[in-house]
Amino acid sequence: VKENPLDTLAKLLAKLPGIGEKTGARLAYFLWRAQGKYPEDLARAILEVKEKVTPCPVCGKPATTDPCEICRDTDRDRTIIMVVEEPQDLAAIEKISAYHGTYHVIGGVLSPVAGVGPEDLNIRGLLDRVKATGLKEVILATNPSVEGDATAAFLEEEIGKAAQNISVTRLARGIPVGSKIKYMDPASIEHAVASRTGKLPDTD
Ligand SMILES: [Zn+2]
Repeated sequence: VKENPLDTLAKLLAKLPGIGEKTGARLAYFLWRAQGKYPEDLARAILEVKEKVTPCPVCGKPATTDPCEICRDTDRDRTIIMVVEEPQDLAAIEKISAYHGTYHVIGGVLSPVAGVGPEDLNIRGLLDRVKATGLKEVILATNPSVEGDATAAFLEEEIGKAAQNISVTRLARGIPVGSKIKYMDPASIEHAVASRTGKLPDTD
């Protein structure tokens, strides 16, 4: 007997982060009963994301152009790279108007427990960018967690090996440990960026 498509959909939805079996079933019923084009639009949006969005070859941001719109933007300050864990962190930082540099999305944090090593993250690309000329500062904007701090420490060392005379800074503390950049309000992010720590580049 073939499984009821409603059950199949419920099981697939249950696999989404933070959903689980009960909510998966609730969402499946919702979609079945939904009026209008919503279910079709949702299905199409999922397919389009998979078809058309790829990581920017320069910074790793999900993009529909090569390179992404931020890396192409000639008004951006290309002497600064802000390193973030996930695209959602980048999106949160983009909401503040005070940052005009570029980004690098490494795609997670180093975690021996979860088996995530440097080769599993977009770090090689970052070091290539660091070696290219003209860079003044790398801001390490990993989340304030044990893994985030360990990842930042690792990156600082690798950047130091890859290139001299580049300032490596960290977002200011005051972000409570365990909080996530992607959920922080813009004012707090702006403060954390403005009062970043480490040796800032000489201004001339
Ligand atoms: Zn990019």
